[in-house]
Amino acid sequence: MIIAGNWKMYRGPDVHALAGLDAIVCPPYTRLRECVEAGLTTYAQNVHWEPEGAFTGEISAPMLLELGVAGSLVGHSERRQYFGETDLAVARRGAAALAAGLGVIACVGETAEQRESGATEAVLEIQVEAIAERCGAADGLVLAYEPVWAIGTGLTATPEIAQDAHAFIKSRLDVPVLYGGSVKPDNAAELLAQPDVDGALVGGASLDVESFKSICLTAARIRS
Ligand code: PEP
Repeated sequence: MIIAGNWKMYRGPDVHALAGLDAIVCPPYTRLRECVEAGLTTYAQNVHWEPEGAFTGEISAPMLLELGVAGSLVGHSERRQYFGETDLAVARRGAAALAAGLGVIACVGETAEQRESGATEAVLEIQVEAIAERCGAADGLVLAYEPVWAIGTGLTATPEIAQDAHAFIKSRLDVPVLYGGSVKPDNAAELLAQPDVDGALVGGASLDVESFKSICLTAARIRS
């Protein structure tokens, strides 16, 4: 069971309060070093597909490795929505990170309109296929099913919706799949209990030490 906390563009919690926690943290770039030095398993929130070059504002896999970072998110819906990340760019980022020896959490998920129009599986298929084509079922690759309508909205997918989507994703690419979208201490247990839910990617609730710890404890209880 993998629990990862995405701090987005927030400062995030005191790293010392998270010491010893069996979880991944995804802080903003400015706090990567601090998290690594505190002994936390630390992922960046994005990574470029080239090892170096004229790509202002980007950061590469070798740069992350130099800091002691263990992996990176790619394809978060906020990157896709606000920064024009295409399926190809997401797949290239993921493949470069894996080839460099980083872990990768690659995010996929449908919008509310896509779900309402019955296009969920078609959208997931395209997103997952792009990742599968470039990355395969690589060691170190994890997918995160994050329905866009559930991120930061307080609207969580029902356990049945999550389970169906995860089973579909795994039928296309057999790697662990995390659920993300308004995971909180009070809904974590029923989501994490689903057979194809292998963990959670937590945004808002990871900014609060007690909420994040509570979700990690729930995951540990379910795994044991
Ligand atoms: C996220 O940022 O990936 C996320 C799932 O956010 P939240 O838990 O706040 O919905």
